[in-house]
Order: sequence, then structure tokens, then C-alpha cells
Amino acid sequence: MSFVDLGLEPGLLKAVHKLGYTEPTPIQEQAIPLALTGRDILGCAQTGTGKTAAFVLPALQRMGRNEKPTEGRSIRTLVVTPTRELAGQIDDVARACSQYTGHRIAAVYGGVGYDPQIKKLRKGVDLLVATPGRLLDLVQRGDIDLSHVEILVLDEADRMLDMGFWPDVRRILNLIPSARQNMLFSATLSKDVMRVAGPTLTDPARIEVAPSATPVETVSQTVYPVAEPQKIDLLVRLLEEERLDRVLVFTRTKHRADRVCRQLERNRIKGTAIHSNRTQAQRQRALDGFKDGTYRVLVATDIVARGIDVDSISHVINYDLPSQAQDYVHRIGRTARAGASGTAISFLAAEQAAELREIELMLGQTLPCRDLEGFAYMQRLVPNPDRTAKKPKPRLVYNGSARRRRR
Ligand code: AMP
Repeated sequence: MSFVDLGLEPGLLKAVHKLGYTEPTPIQEQAIPLALTGRDILGCAQTGTGKTAAFVLPALQRMGRNEKPTEGRSIRTLVVTPTRELAGQIDDVARACSQYTGHRIAAVYGGVGYDPQIKKLRKGVDLLVATPGRLLDLVQRGDIDLSHVEILVLDEADRMLDMGFWPDVRRILNLIPSARQNMLFSATLSKDVMRVAGPTLTDPARIEVAPSATPVETVSQTVYPVAEPQKIDLLVRLLEEERLDRVLVFTRTKHRADRVCRQLERNRIKGTAIHSNRTQAQRQRALDGFKDGTYRVLVATDIVARGIDVDSISHVINYDLPSQAQDYVHRIGRTARAGASGTAISFLAAEQAAELREIELMLGQTLPCRDLEGFAYMQRLVPNPDRTAKKPKPRLVYNGSARRRRR
């Protein structure tokens, strides 16, 4: 299938072509035609699947061309997302997609000054990307009017719930017209997500892209059993000896991220950290430096994982396994983006055996264990090679009502 078959108008097709997208990803193929009809969408897809264009393109097309002078425009599409990194990325995609349609795009998020954002808003905006807190601040100050919103996108709804943003989201919902199109995207459709999605969406088309498809099929995954005190030595040795070009390392806490970074420095390995204690400017500098190769290693925590949209990450190293199995999928999804191949290495200390079990159950796959040759291992836990993970139930890739009706 091509983008033309999805029913997109020429200006958008031209932009998509310029972005280098030759064919739609599964979520785009499923969501775009339905969203173009004005239908509410409940999308189960994580970052990395192409979901941003899946909501941006139909939103732009549905708004149509706007002949008003820019100052007279009101916000007609509102995209709410949990983190500033994601807001920045959606802003980039929306800008790129709208280059031939004349729509005005802006993003507002915390951690940076108000003035440039307010200035931009005054110039007129068609599609606004926002994090909940800053959005409500600006509404309260009278800088944003949400009374003309026609399309609402709630991006990474599960993460907004986890981060405690839902009361803010509910406040936002009360500020926008109830007659509107809604698109809600979430990496999981847990009970909690369904509880909040239910009252927000009207007869949504439910679209799922199996989260396990990405890591299982395109990322090679290995577990390195190692005692906790030796993790840093093992990391340094791996970085010294193996061909690891652009490496994303995950730790459980910000404190541990900083510590790993300091140890890398001591071993003359160029690395930087990104976590929620760092300012927006520091995070951006870290990301930019990682992108342009100034830093070979980026150390991060889960909170910022989804915001890291860097192409050609060759390796993801789980210095600590995540406590939530689903985060494992988000983490390793940072490598092997858009079909490329990648490698995920997970350090396993005895304390995290239960986490590994959860991850393997979720993947329905037993991960192979490996040792680094010549490394003087201390006593450590090595998982029983005969352990087996049960296969998860097969997931529906698509169960929107369009297909159900055809049966
Ligand atoms: P997203 O899930 O929206 O964060 O997108 C993940 C990555 O896939 C981004 O780097 C996009 O630029 C890229 N991408 C999105 N759609 C396509 C497509 N149809 N073809 C190739 N790459 C795409």
C-alpha cells in the first residue's frame, strides 16, 4: 500500500515524499483512512511505529486549508503529550508534514521561558502540541483559547497516567468543545487506560500494533549475568572491546545514571546523561551531542526513554533491568528504528532475576545468556538455561469495526 491509497491530499503527499517515507507503516495504514473520516481512534502503538504521522497527517487534512490571515487563526487541533522531548518531536513532524499546506504549528512545554511561546501563539496557530502543565498555565494566563478545538490527540496516554497528569488532562478536556474528533494513543491498553479512554472517546476504531513485534523481530537480545559491583567494569570492557558505535545505556535511577557517566569519563569514554533532573537546555545539549557523535554513550532513565528519537542507535544496554516489563520494550525499541537492526544487552544481577522472568513472559521468549570472554567474573547468578517462557496469547493486529462489518 502507498500513501496515495490512504486518501491524502497532494500537499501532504509531497511532504511525506520529502520526508523520505516511501510506504506507510502498519499504524499509518490502519489509522489514517479511519481518522480521515472523522472517526475517533483508540491506537495501541509505541513510539517508533510511526504513530506521530498517523495522527498528524489526517489532522492536517481534516482542518483543510485556512485562508485567514495567520493572526486571526484559532487552535483547531490540540495534541497533548507527556514530555517536552515528545512535544518537540511531534512539533518537528507536524512542521515537516505541513510545509505545503500552510498550517501554523507551535509547541508549548515546561522548562523553558514563556515569552517565545506566547509570541508564537499570538501569531496564530492551527495545530498546537503541548504538555499538560504548561498548557494549563498558558490558558490561565489568557494566552491560549481552546474553545475552537475540533481535533484532540492524547499521545502516550499510559505514560500521562503513570506520571500523574490525568487530573490535568481532565481539566483540559473540560476546556474544549465536546463535539470533536478524538485520537488516543497508548503503548498499552491496560485497564487504567481503558477506564480513562472510555468516557473520552465516542465509538472509537481500535487499532493495535503488536508491541512485541518490534523487539522480537528486529533487535538481537542478550543477557549478561554479572554481579552488581562489577556492572561498571563490564560496561567499560564492552565499550572498549566490542564494536559498539552509538550506545544508549539505561539505569534505574538518575543518581545511577550520573554515576555511570562519571565512571565512563574516568575511563575516557565520551558519554553524557539525560534524565528529569536536568534542565531542558542540558537535555537538548545531551541529545544533540549524542546525535552528532560528540558523545558515543547516552545514559538515560525510563522517564525520558520515549523522548529519545535518535536514528542509528546501534546498542541499547540495560545496565539495570526495568522494574516494569513493558519499559523493556520501550527501551530496546530505541534501537532498530524504522526497520533497521539493533542489539540489546541486559546486565543481570541476582537481585533482578524476577524482572528478567517478567520480561521473558511478556515477550514469550527465553533470552540467551552470554559471558564476555576474558572478563574476571565474581560469583554471580546465572539463570538456568532450561528455563522456558510461555508464549503470550496471539495479539490482534487490527480489530477496528471496519473489518468486523465486512465479515
Ligand atoms: P514515531 O513512532 O512517530 O516516533 O516515528 C518513529 C520514526 O519512524 C521517526 O524517526 C519517523 O521519522 C519514522 N517514520 C515514520 N513514518 C515512517 C514511514 N512511513 N516510513 C519510514 N519512516 C517513518
